[in-house]
Amino acid sequence: MGKEGTLYLCPTPIGNLEDITLRALKILKEVDLIAAEDTRVTIKLLNHYEIKTPLVSYHEHNKRGQGPKLIGLLQEGKNIALVSDAGTPGISDPGQDLVKLAIEAGIEVVPLPGAAAVISALVASGLSTERFAFEGFLPKKAGERDKRLAELAPDPRTLIFYEAPHRITKTLKALKDGLGNRKAVIAREMTKLHEEFIRGTLEELIQKFAETAPKGEMVIVLEGAGADSKPGKENSPGWDPELSAIERKSKLESIIEDKIRKGFSKNQALREAAKELGISRNEAYELLINKS
Ligand code: SAM
Repeated sequence: MGKEGTLYLCPTPIGNLEDITLRALKILKEVDLIAAEDTRVTIKLLNHYEIKTPLVSYHEHNKRGQGPKLIGLLQEGKNIALVSDAGTPGISDPGQDLVKLAIEAGIEVVPLPGAAAVISALVASGLSTERFAFEGFLPKKAGERDKRLAELAPDPRTLIFYEAPHRITKTLKALKDGLGNRKAVIAREMTKLHEEFIRGTLEELIQKFAETAPKGEMVIVLEGAGADSKPGKENSPGWDPELSAIERKSKLESIIEDKIRKGFSKNQALREAAKELGISRNEAYELLINKS
C-alpha cells in the first residue's frame, strides 16, 4: 500500500479576505481535494485567490456518509484540506468529527494556525485573557441552557459564547439571570466593514439592543465570576435609601441564597452579592454577621 495522505485543517478568513496565511493558500493550492462546509462560500475565496483545487462538501448533514469517504481517499494517498465557512475548522462546526475519524484511521492531521472568532473577540475585549473558557453556542432549549449556566456560574474564567443575531437579546437576558449583571463585550462583524466592540454590563447591552436590533455575526465575551471589576453603583440595584439595616441584611441574604442555588460556593456568593449591591465584600460580611 502507498503512502497515506494528510488531512490539513485550514483556517479561512472570518470576514476580511486578506486574513489568510501564505501557508494556507499554498496548501489549498497543493492538496488533491478541499472538503468545505459550504462549497458556495468557499468557492468565492478560491476564485479570489485563483485556486482551482476540486471541492467537495462536508457538513453537519452529510458528515456521517461523507466522513468515511474522505478517510478512504486519505488512505488512498490523497491530501485533503478541511475548511469551514469561516475561521478555524473544528471550532463550532463538524470539523472535529472528521479529525476524530482521521486519528482513528492513523491519518496524519496537520493544523494550520489562522483566524478564529473566539480569539479575536477575547483579545480585543479588554477582559482578562489569563484564563478563559470557550463555550461555543449555548443550548437552545431553556432548561438545558439554564443548567449549563448554573455550571458556569462559579467559573472565574472569562467566558466566550458564539450567538446568532436573532437570539442575542434572549441570550443576554439568560446570561444576566443565570450569572448576574456582569461586564460583557459584544464583538460584532469582526474584520468586516462594520466591526464593532460594544462594551457594558449585561443590563446595559440588553437595553441598548432593545432600542436597536443587532445585526451581523457576533461573539459574547463575559467576565468570570468574582472578576476584579468594580461596576459603578448605577449599574447595580444598590440599596434603597429607605431600607433599614434588617431589611438590607435580608436583601443581602436573599441574593446570596439565590447565588448558592445557581452553583456558587458560599464565599463566591458573598462576593458576587456584594458586587451586585455595589459594596465591598467586607461590608457585606459585616452586615451578614451583624446580630441586630
Ligand atoms: N469556525 C469558526 C471560528 O473559527 O470562529 C466559527 C464558526 S461558528 C458556526 C460561527 C459563529 O462564529 C458565528 O455565529 C459568530 O458567533 C462567530 N463569528 C464568525 N465570524 C465572526 C465575525 N466576523 N465577527 C463576529 N463573530 C463571528
